[in-house]
Amino acid sequence: MSFSSDVKEELVHLSGHELHCVVAELAAVISFSARVHCSESSGYLIALETENIAVAKRFYLLLKKAFRFQPKVVVSQHESGKKSHIFAISVEGAANVLQVLKTTGLMNNRGQMDEEEYLTDNPILRRTCCRRAFLRGAFLAAGSVTDPERNYHFEITCVDGRKAEQLKDFMQFFGLEAKIVLRKKYHVVYLKEGSMISDALSIMEAHVAMMKFENIRIVKDVRNSVNRRVNCEAANINKTVSAARKQIEDIEYIRKTVGLDKLPENLRDVAYARLEEPEAALKELGEMLHPPVGKSGVNHRLRKLGQMAQHLREGGRI
Ligand SMILES: [Zn+2]
Repeated sequence: MSFSSDVKEELVHLSGHELHCVVAELAAVISFSARVHCSESSGYLIALETENIAVAKRFYLLLKKAFRFQPKVVVSQHESGKKSHIFAISVEGAANVLQVLKTTGLMNNRGQMDEEEYLTDNPILRRTCCRRAFLRGAFLAAGSVTDPERNYHFEITCVDGRKAEQLKDFMQFFGLEAKIVLRKKYHVVYLKEGSMISDALSIMEAHVAMMKFENIRIVKDVRNSVNRRVNCEAANINKTVSAARKQIEDIEYIRKTVGLDKLPENLRDVAYARLEEPEAALKELGEMLHPPVGKSGVNHRLRKLGQMAQHLREGGRI
């Protein structure tokens, strides 16, 4: 199963919420993915069609918990002949449909379906617990989250831009800084930052998934910082090695042209030490000398040898 379906599976098994939260979660599921007909001409219907049996079950149970009536359930084969099924959960009849729409605040007091300010000014979303439930419902209905091993991405799909903007502001309430991108005809509200996705999981009460997400995130962070350090150390080692190689070339050049014995004692000692220990660090070379010399002293002498070699190469004499 994908990480996304693991999260949904966990969410659909949450229970013990107050009725106000049940209503808020229902409102989100309806608002984000149900088909609603509500007029004399088109009839009265609220229908959720999903391939995800867990989401279908959740919607069914929430409806039963919040209202007395029995929702209708239809299971059908996928048209394309895929193995999956489509689960349709619906509420029919004017009285029931109106009751659901009014209770969830999807229909205003004047009997109009008005989603203009639905998420910004809605009495059913006053409590924080209900806001959490709403986010959970929206995610169950239209959301997904990528396996953190692959990528950090959390999204909820909206059918129109106005709703996407509202959802973005709504998520801001929890400190979730979402962005919106247009994908085909959908407006997708998404989170990209690991810490925010982790917060979102926790807000929706997917605590098991959140722990799993966090564990992977910690391992990834450690791995990244180790990689960075290894790369950095490797770069330093390369630098040291190529500097030493250049020093040896210079010393060899001096030996072949004028001989190391012609050098002043302090330079000669360092030259021999370097030839003896091609990979030693400057500090170690310094410790080989009598009397020992500090790192900067060694560096100074090696530079001097380098300048001499250069001078000789250019036809100069010592
Ligand atoms: Zn509540």
